[in-house]
Amino acid sequence: MSNQTYRDSEYLDGLSGDELFSLQIGLTYRDFLVLPGFIDFHPSEVELETRLTRNIKLKRPFISSPMDTVTESQMAIAQALMGGIGIIHYNNTIEEQVAHVAKVKRFENGFITDPVILGPKNTIRDLDWIKEHKGFTGIPVTEDGSRDSKLVGIVTNRDIDFEKNREITLDKVMTTNVITGKAGITLQEANDIIKKSKIGKLPIVDSNGKLVSLVSRSDLKKNKEFPDASKDENKRLRCGAAVSTLLESRDRVAALYEAGVDVIIIDSAQGNSNYQIEMIQFIKKEFKNLEVVGGNVVTRAQAENLIRAGADGLRIGMGPGSICITQDTMAVGRAQATAVFQTARHAAKYDVPVIADGGISNIGDIANALAIGASTCMMGFMFAGTTEAPGEYFYENGIRLKKYRGMASIEAMKAGGDKRYFNEGQKVKVAQGVSGSVVDRGSILNFIPYLSQGLRLSFQDMGFKSIPEIHKALRDGNLRFERRSESAQAQGSVHGLYSFSAPTMRAE
Ligand code: GDP
Ligand code: 5GP
Repeated sequence: MSNQTYRDSEYLDGLSGDELFSLQIGLTYRDFLVLPGFIDFHPSEVELETRLTRNIKLKRPFISSPMDTVTESQMAIAQALMGGIGIIHYNNTIEEQVAHVAKVKRFENGFITDPVILGPKNTIRDLDWIKEHKGFTGIPVTEDGSRDSKLVGIVTNRDIDFEKNREITLDKVMTTNVITGKAGITLQEANDIIKKSKIGKLPIVDSNGKLVSLVSRSDLKKNKEFPDASKDENKRLRCGAAVSTLLESRDRVAALYEAGVDVIIIDSAQGNSNYQIEMIQFIKKEFKNLEVVGGNVVTRAQAENLIRAGADGLRIGMGPGSICITQDTMAVGRAQATAVFQTARHAAKYDVPVIADGGISNIGDIANALAIGASTCMMGFMFAGTTEAPGEYFYENGIRLKKYRGMASIEAMKAGGDKRYFNEGQKVKVAQGVSGSVVDRGSILNFIPYLSQGLRLSFQDMGFKSIPEIHKALRDGNLRFERRSESAQAQGSVHGLYSFSAPTMRAE
C-alpha cells in the first residue's frame, strides 16, 4: 500500500490545517498533534533542506536568535557549519557587530582565525586564567600582544608546567624558534608540517611575520568535516545580522554589507510600521543581492505589508518566547501556532518563506512549526545553554547553567537592547522580557545532530520525507491534525510516576 493510496482513501481522519486553524481560538504547538501517516522509508532518507529566504537555502531548518546571550560569532560559525545559520545581535556598536560577521565570513575550517594572543610581558598567571576559562594553553606571543604585530614566540603547557612562580613573564619561558606556516597554505600542508615536526601548534604568518591564524594538532586529529555547512557562492560560511528600524541602522546595514553579511533581519516586536517598510525598501534598493527578512508579524495583513515592501522572508511571533512577557504586559500578540499557520499560508502565495520565531522548547515544537507551514525555526531558549553561546557557565545548586535574557528585559535594555520595542531614549522603560538562566546543553556540534535526528524520526511518523512534501500535503489537506484537550495534553506527557529522571535534551 503506497503512501498516496492511504491518504486518498475514504478513511481520511482528523482535521486539515484549514479546519484546525479555523477554530475561533488561538492555538500553540502543544494544542494539537499531527496524525501519523504511512511509513515506507528509513529516517535517514528524510531530507531537512529548506529555504531561509527567497534566495537562501539551508540544509537544516535551524536559526539562532539575534540575542546577546545567544548569537555572536562563535554561535554563528557553529550554526553555519551544521547547516543552519546564526543571526548576530545588535546590542553592540556597529564595529563590534561587523567584527562578529567578519569572523564568520573569514572562518576556515581547521584554522583558528582569531586566536587568543599574549605579549612578552604577560605572566604565566595570565596563561593560567586562559587555561581555566577557555581550556587551552598553546598561545602565540606577539611583540605587543596584538594581532597587528610580529610573532615572537609561543608558550605551551610544556614551557610552564613545572614553573612554581606564576608571576614570571612569558619572554622568560616561551619558545622563540617557532616553526610557522606561510599564509595561504592549505590545511593539508599545515597538517604535513605538524606531523613532520611533531609540534602541537602551527602559527600561520604573513610575509611581514605577522600572525594570521593558528592550526592545532588536536583539531587535525579530530579532522571534522562539515558536508552540510551553509556557504555562499565564494564558499564562505553564511551569516545573518539583525538591525533595528531606526534611521541610524542604515549605516549599520552598509557596514554589515561590506563585511559580507548574507541576510539582514529587521528586528522589531511589531513589524507592521512605516519605519520597517521604509527600511526594507531602502535595503532592497541600495544593496544588491542582500536578502531581507521583515518582522515580527503574526497576522496576514501585517505579512502582506512587509511582502509588498519587498521582504524576502518573514519572521513570525509576538509574545511566545520563553523569556517574553509581551502578551502579559501589552495585551497584544497571537498564539504562536495560529500566527505561523496564518502568515505562512498567506506568504506561500508569494513564495516567501516564514521563520517560526520563539516558543520552541522541544523537538516536537519544531516538527509542529514546520508541519503548519514554517520553513525554518528560530530559537533562543534551545541554544542559549550551549558551549557556543556568549557568556561563561556558572553553577547553582550543583547545576551547570548559562545566563539567558530577553532583549527587552530591563537588564538588556540598559545595555542598549531597547531599539526593538520603540522604547529607545524613553526615560521610563517597560520590560517585555525577563532575565534568567538555562541548563548546559553541550556543544552545538552535538546538539544539532540530536535535533536533526529527532526531526527525521518525527517526519517518518508523519509519513513525509521532506519539508516541501509536508507543506504540499498541508496545502492539499492531506496532512491531518487533531486538537488536543487539556487532558490529552496531560496524558501525552509523563504522568502518574512517583519519580523519574527528566530527559536531558542533549546528545548522550
Ligand atoms: P592546548 O594545547 O592547551 O592549547 O589545547 P589543545 O591544542 O588540546 O586544544 C585547543 C583547542 O582549543 C583546539 O580545539 C582549538 O581549536 C581550540 N581553540 C579555539 N580557540 C583557540 C585559541 O585562540 N588558541 C588555542 N590555542 N586554541 C584554541
Ligand atoms: P525562545 O526561543 O526563547 O522561546 O524565544 C526567542 C525569541 O523571543 C527571539 O528570537 C525574539 O523574537 C524573542 N525575544 C527576545 N527577547 C525578547 C524579549 O525581551 N521580549 C519579547 N517579547 N520577546 C523577546
